[in-house]
Amino acid sequence: MNFRLIFILVLSSFGCSNLALGHPLGDREFNELEQLLINYDFAIRYEIPPYENKRGFKPYGLLNSRSKTIWINPVVFDLGNAKPTLIHEAVHASQTCAGNGEIKLLNLAIEPPQMTRPYFMYYHGYRREIEAQAYAIQAQPDSLAIVIELLKKYCQ
Ligand SMILES: [Zn+2]
Repeated sequence: MNFRLIFILVLSSFGCSNLALGHPLGDREFNELEQLLINYDFAIRYEIPPYENKRGFKPYGLLNSRSKTIWINPVVFDLGNAKPTLIHEAVHASQTCAGNGEIKLLNLAIEPPQMTRPYFMYYHGYRREIEAQAYAIQAQPDSLAIVIELLKKYCQ
């Protein structure tokens, strides 16, 4: 029996295989970001988020800034958009750190691309700006690097 397998079995028996090894369905970058969020005391739950919008739609991801809990809807692994979903919620995590538990707009110069507008224009006021910022970063080609930098800057 090889050592990695033993390691997995031992961790699984403590119920913390995600914590040490990353999500089994996530790729290396996904798991790196997941681990960073866990290091900054965010709990990540792979469950259907306990929220639906006015149209009855369950979101791909959700963050509760008070409890520092992130929900990732398992459907994103089937849809192939797990990474942008986690990046989006990681932006909200950075906003949470910036506001000390109250979600707060970051001081950034990135504008949301036109094609992302339908995703946040139905929000209003401050919430719209918060979402616009998450979609703006999520849509960047180097979104992972940007959000890692933001987490390190605001969550230290
Ligand atoms: Zn959002």
